[in-house]
Amino acid sequence: MASSDSPLEVTGATRVAAVIGHPIVHSLSPAIHNAGFRSSGSDIVYVAFDVSPGQATDALRAARTLGFIGLSVTMPHKFEIARAVNSLSPSAQKLDSVNTVEFEGEETIGHSTDGDGLVGSLAAQGCDVRGKSVVVFGAGGAARSVVDALARHGAARLGIINRTLDAAIRAAELAPGVCTAVDGADKEAVAQSMGSADLVINATSVGMATGERVSDRTRHNAPDHSSDLPVDASLLTSNHVVVDLVYHPLQTPLLQAAARCGCQTIDGLGMLVHQAALQQLIWTGLQPDVEEMTRAALRALAEPR
Ligand code: NAP
Repeated sequence: MASSDSPLEVTGATRVAAVIGHPIVHSLSPAIHNAGFRSSGSDIVYVAFDVSPGQATDALRAARTLGFIGLSVTMPHKFEIARAVNSLSPSAQKLDSVNTVEFEGEETIGHSTDGDGLVGSLAAQGCDVRGKSVVVFGAGGAARSVVDALARHGAARLGIINRTLDAAIRAAELAPGVCTAVDGADKEAVAQSMGSADLVINATSVGMATGERVSDRTRHNAPDHSSDLPVDASLLTSNHVVVDLVYHPLQTPLLQAAARCGCQTIDGLGMLVHQAALQQLIWTGLQPDVEEMTRAALRALAEPR
Protein backbone atom coordinates (compact mmCIF):
# COMPACT_ATOMS: atom_id res chain seq x y z
CA MET A 1 0.00 0.00 0.00
CA ALA A 2 1.33 3.49 -0.90
CA SER A 3 2.16 5.76 2.03
CA SER A 4 0.79 9.30 1.91
CA ASP A 5 4.32 10.57 1.18
CA SER A 6 5.02 8.39 -1.87
CA PRO A 7 4.60 9.96 -5.33
CA LEU A 8 1.13 9.78 -6.84
CA GLU A 9 0.88 7.47 -9.87
CA VAL A 10 -1.97 8.36 -12.19
CA THR A 11 -2.90 5.77 -14.82
CA GLY A 12 -5.81 5.19 -17.22
CA ALA A 13 -7.61 3.35 -14.42
CA THR A 14 -7.34 6.16 -11.87
CA ARG A 15 -10.72 7.55 -10.80
CA VAL A 16 -11.44 11.16 -9.83
CA ALA A 17 -13.18 12.77 -6.87
CA ALA A 18 -13.43 16.53 -6.45
CA VAL A 19 -14.68 19.45 -4.44
CA ILE A 20 -16.65 22.32 -5.96
CA GLY A 21 -16.80 25.71 -4.25
CA HIS A 22 -16.12 29.41 -4.74
CA PRO A 23 -13.51 30.47 -3.84
CA ILE A 24 -11.67 27.15 -3.51
CA VAL A 25 -7.96 27.86 -3.95
CA HIS A 26 -7.21 27.67 -0.19
CA SER A 27 -9.21 24.46 0.38
CA LEU A 28 -7.48 21.83 2.54
CA SER A 29 -9.69 19.10 1.04
CA PRO A 30 -7.28 17.96 -1.73
CA ALA A 31 -4.47 17.43 0.81
CA ILE A 32 -6.78 15.63 3.27
CA HIS A 33 -8.55 13.44 0.73
CA ASN A 34 -5.49 12.44 -1.28
CA ALA A 35 -3.80 11.32 1.95
CA GLY A 36 -6.94 9.38 2.85
CA PHE A 37 -7.27 7.64 -0.52
CA ARG A 38 -3.61 6.66 -0.41
CA SER A 39 -3.96 5.30 3.13
CA SER A 40 -6.78 3.00 2.01
CA GLY A 41 -4.96 1.96 -1.19
CA SER A 42 -7.65 3.55 -3.41
CA ASP A 43 -6.64 4.46 -6.97
CA ILE A 44 -8.40 7.82 -6.78
CA VAL A 45 -7.15 11.39 -7.13
CA TYR A 46 -8.97 14.34 -5.58
CA VAL A 47 -8.93 17.83 -7.09
CA ALA A 48 -10.60 21.19 -6.47
CA PHE A 49 -12.76 23.10 -8.97
CA ASP A 50 -13.71 26.75 -8.65
CA VAL A 51 -17.33 26.80 -9.77
CA SER A 52 -19.12 30.15 -10.04
CA PRO A 53 -22.37 30.68 -8.10
CA GLY A 54 -25.32 29.31 -10.09
CA GLN A 55 -23.18 26.79 -12.01
CA ALA A 56 -23.20 23.95 -9.48
CA THR A 57 -25.94 21.94 -11.22
CA ASP A 58 -23.90 22.00 -14.45
CA ALA A 59 -20.82 20.89 -12.50
CA LEU A 60 -22.78 18.00 -10.96
CA ARG A 61 -23.95 16.88 -14.42
CA ALA A 62 -20.37 17.06 -15.72
CA ALA A 63 -19.05 15.05 -12.76
CA ARG A 64 -21.59 12.30 -13.44
CA THR A 65 -20.79 12.28 -17.19
CA LEU A 66 -17.07 12.02 -16.44
CA GLY A 67 -17.58 9.13 -14.03
CA PHE A 68 -16.36 10.85 -10.85
CA ILE A 69 -16.37 8.54 -7.86
CA GLY A 70 -17.67 11.28 -5.60
CA LEU A 71 -18.14 15.01 -5.21
CA SER A 72 -17.66 17.25 -2.18
CA VAL A 73 -19.66 20.46 -2.14
CA THR A 74 -18.76 23.60 -0.24
CA MET A 75 -20.05 27.17 -0.09
CA PRO A 76 -21.90 28.64 -1.90
CA HIS A 77 -23.25 25.49 -3.59
CA LYS A 78 -24.65 23.36 -0.74
CA PHE A 79 -28.25 24.52 -1.23
CA GLU A 80 -28.24 24.41 -5.03
CA ILE A 81 -26.90 20.84 -5.00
CA ALA A 82 -29.55 19.80 -2.45
CA ARG A 83 -32.09 20.64 -5.17
CA ALA A 84 -30.12 19.13 -8.03
CA VAL A 85 -29.54 15.58 -6.72
CA ASN A 86 -32.05 12.74 -7.25
CA SER A 87 -32.42 11.91 -3.55
CA LEU A 88 -31.25 13.09 -0.13
CA SER A 89 -30.14 11.32 3.06
CA PRO A 90 -32.43 12.12 6.02
CA SER A 91 -29.98 14.69 7.45
CA ALA A 92 -29.35 16.40 4.12
CA GLN A 93 -33.11 16.62 3.64
CA LYS A 94 -33.65 18.11 7.08
CA LEU A 95 -30.82 20.63 6.67
CA ASP A 96 -31.68 21.34 3.01
CA SER A 97 -27.94 21.22 2.42
CA VAL A 98 -25.53 18.79 0.75
CA ASN A 99 -21.76 18.56 1.22
CA THR A 100 -21.31 15.10 -0.33
CA VAL A 101 -22.65 13.57 -3.55
CA GLU A 102 -22.65 9.83 -4.04
CA PHE A 103 -22.97 8.52 -7.61
CA GLU A 104 -24.99 5.32 -7.78
CA GLY A 105 -25.30 4.41 -11.47
CA GLU A 106 -27.36 7.21 -13.02
CA GLU A 107 -28.61 8.32 -9.59
CA THR A 108 -27.11 11.09 -7.47
CA ILE A 109 -27.60 10.97 -3.70
CA GLY A 110 -26.90 13.98 -1.46
CA HIS A 111 -25.48 13.58 2.05
CA SER A 112 -24.36 15.93 4.81
CA THR A 113 -21.33 14.70 6.78
CA ASP A 114 -20.33 17.90 8.67
CA GLY A 115 -22.30 17.28 11.87
CA ASP A 116 -21.35 13.61 12.12
CA GLY A 117 -17.76 14.69 11.42
CA LEU A 118 -17.86 16.87 14.54
CA VAL A 119 -19.33 14.08 16.66
CA GLY A 120 -16.63 11.70 15.35
CA SER A 121 -13.93 14.23 16.13
CA LEU A 122 -15.25 14.72 19.68
CA ALA A 123 -15.41 10.95 20.22
CA ALA A 124 -11.79 10.65 19.05
CA GLN A 125 -10.87 13.13 21.82
CA GLY A 126 -12.77 11.12 24.45
CA CYS A 127 -15.82 13.42 24.48
CA ASP A 128 -19.14 11.55 24.35
CA VAL A 129 -22.04 13.94 23.66
CA ARG A 130 -24.75 11.60 24.99
CA GLY A 131 -26.61 13.23 27.90
CA LYS A 132 -24.54 16.42 27.66
CA SER A 133 -25.75 19.99 27.92
CA VAL A 134 -24.34 21.91 24.95
CA VAL A 135 -24.16 25.59 24.02
CA VAL A 136 -23.69 26.33 20.32
CA PHE A 137 -22.71 29.86 19.28
CA GLY A 138 -23.95 30.58 15.74
CA ALA A 139 -26.94 29.50 13.68
CA GLY A 140 -25.52 29.33 10.13
CA GLY A 141 -24.90 26.25 7.99
CA ALA A 142 -22.18 24.76 10.23
CA ALA A 143 -24.19 25.33 13.42
CA ARG A 144 -27.29 23.73 11.90
CA SER A 145 -25.41 20.57 10.87
CA VAL A 146 -23.84 20.38 14.34
CA VAL A 147 -27.19 20.85 16.12
CA ASP A 148 -28.82 18.13 14.00
CA ALA A 149 -25.99 15.65 14.69
CA LEU A 150 -25.73 16.42 18.42
CA ALA A 151 -29.47 15.83 18.85
CA ARG A 152 -29.30 12.54 16.89
CA HIS A 153 -26.36 11.42 19.04
CA GLY A 154 -28.22 11.99 22.31
CA ALA A 155 -27.24 15.45 23.61
CA ALA A 156 -29.69 16.20 26.43
CA ARG A 157 -29.94 19.99 26.01
CA LEU A 158 -28.85 22.36 23.26
CA GLY A 159 -28.77 26.15 23.64
CA ILE A 160 -28.32 27.96 20.32
CA ILE A 161 -26.97 31.47 20.87
CA ASN A 162 -26.88 33.86 17.93
CA ARG A 163 -26.78 37.63 17.38
CA THR A 164 -29.71 37.20 14.96
CA LEU A 165 -32.41 35.56 17.07
CA ASP A 166 -34.58 34.50 14.09
CA ALA A 167 -31.78 32.30 12.75
CA ALA A 168 -31.36 30.69 16.20
CA ILE A 169 -35.11 30.01 16.35
CA ARG A 170 -35.01 28.36 12.90
CA ALA A 171 -32.00 26.22 13.96
CA ALA A 172 -33.76 25.22 17.19
CA GLU A 173 -36.60 23.78 15.08
CA LEU A 174 -34.16 21.07 13.93
CA ALA A 175 -34.46 19.37 17.33
CA PRO A 176 -37.70 20.39 19.04
CA GLY A 177 -37.84 19.65 22.76
CA VAL A 178 -34.03 19.57 23.03
CA CYS A 179 -33.08 23.02 21.68
CA THR A 180 -33.58 26.51 23.04
CA ALA A 181 -32.88 29.65 21.00
CA VAL A 182 -31.06 32.41 22.87
CA ASP A 183 -30.54 36.02 21.80
CA GLY A 184 -26.79 36.69 21.80
CA ALA A 185 -27.44 40.23 23.11
CA ASP A 186 -29.30 38.91 26.21
CA LYS A 187 -26.37 38.77 28.64
CA GLU A 188 -28.37 37.14 31.43
CA ALA A 189 -29.72 34.36 29.21
CA VAL A 190 -26.24 33.75 27.74
CA ALA A 191 -24.72 33.52 31.26
CA GLN A 192 -27.46 31.10 32.33
CA SER A 193 -26.87 28.84 29.30
CA MET A 194 -23.11 28.89 29.91
CA GLY A 195 -23.64 28.10 33.61
CA SER A 196 -25.35 24.79 32.84
CA ALA A 197 -23.22 23.77 29.82
CA ASP A 198 -20.80 20.83 29.65
CA LEU A 199 -19.77 21.56 26.08
CA VAL A 200 -19.33 25.00 24.45
CA ILE A 201 -19.08 25.09 20.65
CA ASN A 202 -18.17 28.09 18.50
CA ALA A 203 -19.91 27.66 15.14
CA THR A 204 -19.67 31.36 14.21
CA SER A 205 -16.90 32.71 12.01
CA VAL A 206 -15.66 34.86 14.93
CA GLY A 207 -11.95 34.21 15.48
CA MET A 208 -11.26 33.27 11.86
CA ALA A 209 -8.01 34.66 10.45
CA THR A 210 -8.54 37.38 7.89
CA GLY A 211 -5.68 37.10 5.48
CA GLU A 212 -2.60 36.90 7.65
CA ARG A 213 -0.43 33.79 7.64
CA VAL A 214 -1.25 31.02 10.10
CA SER A 215 2.25 31.22 11.52
CA ASP A 216 1.64 34.90 12.37
CA ARG A 217 -1.47 33.99 14.37
CA THR A 218 -0.03 31.03 16.23
CA ARG A 219 3.29 32.58 17.23
CA HIS A 220 3.88 32.56 20.96
CA ASN A 221 3.92 36.33 21.19
CA ALA A 222 0.80 36.77 19.04
CA PRO A 223 -1.24 39.93 19.72
CA ASP A 224 -4.26 39.84 22.03
CA HIS A 225 -7.35 38.88 20.02
CA SER A 226 -9.83 38.96 22.92
CA SER A 227 -12.25 40.99 20.75
CA ASP A 228 -12.40 37.91 18.48
CA LEU A 229 -14.29 35.89 21.10
CA PRO A 230 -17.89 34.71 20.48
CA VAL A 231 -18.48 34.71 24.27
CA ASP A 232 -17.32 36.75 27.25
CA ALA A 233 -14.25 34.84 28.51
CA SER A 234 -15.31 35.41 32.14
CA LEU A 235 -18.15 32.90 31.55
CA LEU A 236 -15.69 30.07 30.80
CA THR A 237 -14.91 27.64 33.63
CA SER A 238 -12.67 24.59 33.84
CA ASN A 239 -15.83 22.42 33.72
CA HIS A 240 -16.38 23.34 30.07
CA VAL A 241 -15.06 21.38 27.11
CA VAL A 242 -14.59 24.12 24.50
CA VAL A 243 -14.70 23.38 20.77
CA ASP A 244 -14.01 25.82 17.94
CA LEU A 245 -15.13 24.92 14.41
CA VAL A 246 -12.77 27.58 13.07
CA TYR A 247 -9.49 25.89 12.05
CA HIS A 248 -7.61 28.84 10.58
CA PRO A 249 -5.88 29.63 12.87
CA LEU A 250 -5.91 26.31 14.74
CA GLN A 251 -5.43 27.93 18.15
CA THR A 252 -8.19 30.50 17.96
CA PRO A 253 -8.58 33.32 20.51
CA LEU A 254 -11.46 31.31 22.06
CA LEU A 255 -9.34 28.16 22.46
CA GLN A 256 -6.50 30.23 23.90
CA ALA A 257 -8.85 31.84 26.44
CA ALA A 258 -10.39 28.45 27.27
CA ALA A 259 -6.97 26.87 27.82
CA ARG A 260 -6.10 29.71 30.23
CA CYS A 261 -9.27 28.79 32.20
CA GLY A 262 -8.19 25.15 32.40
CA CYS A 263 -10.81 23.86 29.93
CA GLN A 264 -10.26 20.88 27.63
CA THR A 265 -10.05 22.40 24.13
CA ILE A 266 -10.79 20.82 20.75
CA ASP A 267 -9.93 22.56 17.46
CA GLY A 268 -11.90 22.51 14.21
CA LEU A 269 -9.47 20.48 12.13
CA GLY A 270 -10.75 17.18 13.56
CA MET A 271 -14.25 17.93 12.28
CA LEU A 272 -12.91 18.72 8.81
CA VAL A 273 -10.90 15.50 8.68
CA HIS A 274 -13.62 13.27 10.15
CA GLN A 275 -16.29 14.58 7.77
CA ALA A 276 -13.89 13.87 4.88
CA ALA A 277 -13.31 10.32 6.18
CA LEU A 278 -17.10 9.82 6.23
CA GLN A 279 -17.24 11.01 2.61
CA GLN A 280 -14.65 8.41 1.60
CA LEU A 281 -16.59 5.71 3.42
CA ILE A 282 -19.69 6.68 1.41
CA TRP A 283 -17.78 6.69 -1.90
CA THR A 284 -15.56 3.61 -1.49
CA GLY A 285 -16.85 1.62 1.50
CA LEU A 286 -13.30 1.89 2.89
CA GLN A 287 -12.28 3.57 6.14
CA PRO A 288 -9.24 5.82 5.49
CA ASP A 289 -6.53 6.52 8.08
CA VAL A 290 -7.68 9.64 9.92
CA GLU A 291 -4.21 10.25 11.39
CA GLU A 292 -2.59 10.32 7.93
CA MET A 293 -5.31 12.74 6.82
CA THR A 294 -4.73 14.96 9.86
CA ARG A 295 -0.98 15.08 9.22
CA ALA A 296 -1.61 16.10 5.58
CA ALA A 297 -4.04 18.81 6.75
CA LEU A 298 -1.51 20.20 9.24
CA ARG A 299 1.18 20.33 6.53
CA ALA A 300 -1.18 22.16 4.16
CA LEU A 301 -2.31 24.54 6.91
CA ALA A 302 1.29 25.45 7.73
CA GLU A 303 1.96 26.56 4.15
CA PRO A 304 1.79 30.30 3.45
CA ARG A 305 -1.62 31.37 2.13
P1 NAP B 1 -22.45 31.03 7.99
O1 NAP B 1 -23.54 30.14 7.49
O2 NAP B 1 -22.12 32.26 7.24
O3 NAP B 1 -22.85 31.43 9.51
C1 NAP B 1 -22.03 32.32 10.22
C2 NAP B 1 -22.53 32.41 11.67
O4 NAP B 1 -21.61 33.24 12.38
C3 NAP B 1 -23.91 33.05 11.82
O5 NAP B 1 -24.58 32.49 12.90
C4 NAP B 1 -23.54 34.52 12.09
O6 NAP B 1 -24.54 35.20 12.83
C5 NAP B 1 -22.33 34.33 12.98
N1 NAP B 1 -21.44 35.49 12.98
C6 NAP B 1 -20.68 35.95 11.96
N2 NAP B 1 -19.98 37.04 12.35
C7 NAP B 1 -20.33 37.27 13.65
C8 NAP B 1 -19.95 38.26 14.61
N3 NAP B 1 -19.07 39.23 14.30
N4 NAP B 1 -20.47 38.18 15.84
C9 NAP B 1 -21.35 37.19 16.17
N5 NAP B 1 -21.75 36.24 15.29
C10 NAP B 1 -21.24 36.28 14.05
O7 NAP B 1 -21.09 30.23 8.13
P2 NAP B 1 -20.90 28.67 8.41
O8 NAP B 1 -20.80 27.94 7.15
O9 NAP B 1 -21.93 28.26 9.39
O10 NAP B 1 -19.43 28.64 9.08
C11 NAP B 1 -19.19 29.15 10.38
C12 NAP B 1 -17.74 28.88 10.76
O11 NAP B 1 -17.54 27.46 10.89
C13 NAP B 1 -16.71 29.35 9.74
O12 NAP B 1 -15.61 29.89 10.43
C14 NAP B 1 -16.28 28.09 9.02
O13 NAP B 1 -14.96 28.15 8.55
C15 NAP B 1 -16.40 27.07 10.14
N6 NAP B 1 -16.64 25.71 9.63
C16 NAP B 1 -15.78 24.73 10.02
C17 NAP B 1 -15.99 23.44 9.59
C18 NAP B 1 -15.03 22.36 10.04
O14 NAP B 1 -15.05 21.28 9.43
N7 NAP B 1 -14.23 22.60 11.06
C19 NAP B 1 -17.08 23.13 8.76
C20 NAP B 1 -17.94 24.16 8.39
C21 NAP B 1 -17.72 25.47 8.82
P3 NAP B 1 -25.80 35.91 12.09
O15 NAP B 1 -26.81 34.80 11.85
O16 NAP B 1 -26.26 36.89 13.09
O17 NAP B 1 -25.27 36.51 10.83
